[in-house]
Amino acid sequence: MNAELLKNLIIVITVAVAVFKVALNELDVRSSRTALAGSPKAEVKKAVEYTVTKRRFESTTTVITATVVLAFLVLGLYGQIQQLVAGSIQGQIWQDLVFLLAMALGLFILGIPGSIYKTFVIEAKFGFNRTTVKTFIIDRIRGIVLGALILGPILLGLLWIYQQVPNQIWWIAFVAINLISLITAAIGTSVILPLFNKLKELPEGELRDKILALCERQNYKLKRIYVMDSSKRSSKSNAFFSGIGKTKTIVLFDSLIANHTVDEVVGVLGHEMGHDKLGHIRSMLLLNMLQSFVIFALFGWALQEPALSEALGGSGVQLVLSLIAFGMLFSPINFLLGIFDNYMTRRNEHGADIFASQVYGKEHIISALQRLSADNLANPAPHPLYVLAYYSHPPASKRVSHVLEAKLA
Ligand SMILES: [Zn+2]
Repeated sequence: MNAELLKNLIIVITVAVAVFKVALNELDVRSSRTALAGSPKAEVKKAVEYTVTKRRFESTTTVITATVVLAFLVLGLYGQIQQLVAGSIQGQIWQDLVFLLAMALGLFILGIPGSIYKTFVIEAKFGFNRTTVKTFIIDRIRGIVLGALILGPILLGLLWIYQQVPNQIWWIAFVAINLISLITAAIGTSVILPLFNKLKELPEGELRDKILALCERQNYKLKRIYVMDSSKRSSKSNAFFSGIGKTKTIVLFDSLIANHTVDEVVGVLGHEMGHDKLGHIRSMLLLNMLQSFVIFALFGWALQEPALSEALGGSGVQLVLSLIAFGMLFSPINFLLGIFDNYMTRRNEHGADIFASQVYGKEHIISALQRLSADNLANPAPHPLYVLAYYSHPPASKRVSHVLEAKLA
């Protein structure tokens, strides 16, 4: 394949994906404003304003990122940086490792101004932010150290394997990465989460009694019920189950307990339990595995094509350049896969809502959903295309009507 042609194709794809994302944001902005017809309540006005601010911010980030990527492509900077690294470090493995870590660090640094603006300007303006500057800085440092400690050795291992058996790397990388995500799912709550948050056992009382009673009725084995100090970062609330196998740990955000009635919190737990009982967690894990298998196989095949590296300004097959070029070429397909994944998770949300209604009553899950949506200033009138592309959870109004219409067993 012709490298120049491929480079132009990557440029066209980068521009097209960015334009498409900005257009979707703009559609959602217009759609949300339709909620302002008549004389809307103050909360609706605030939710629309929050939606508009967030979408415009997302568009700005998309345009800036695409501009940087295009500049790198047009000026051949990827290849130049790769050659610079190759010229100053001995050994292919170390060259590749340094190049990849430098790219990851570059992306991380590029993202910091956006995170600062989102946390301390947007979220603060709408009353969500609880993050102090100190927490923000410590989070970033912990993130980078943890990332380097986990990613560094894995990358090094994979790069070494690539040197030995270049044609086998795609499936070995597939196995390695899926193993790591399984391990993270298994030990994330007990090992990684405590690095960022304080977890305390839920104290004795009505909430604990009702949760335990629900679990007993459903024959559900619990190891621990934790309360997480999420309010040190944001006032938004959530809850989740974690752990692989029969025994689970529940993590409740402290803001969930603070802003909801006991029955609403138990309703939310019934929903989370539903995800597990209905096999959603397992099926999504399998789906992601299947998708990543196809992606890695495609990458293995594409890796033999030198044009991929040459399009980015490299000479001959360079694993690291091929990886970046492949990622860019693949981005529209990735977007489509995301749409499919979101469709699946939205369907699962309805299923889990029905489960919660069956085990704990419709009224509690409905009032929890309404309160969550209002507290999080969700878009009161999202655009259907935006929902299709990005919503992992259906809009609250849809979920409530789905629960209301359901005939429970
Ligand atoms: Zn859910």
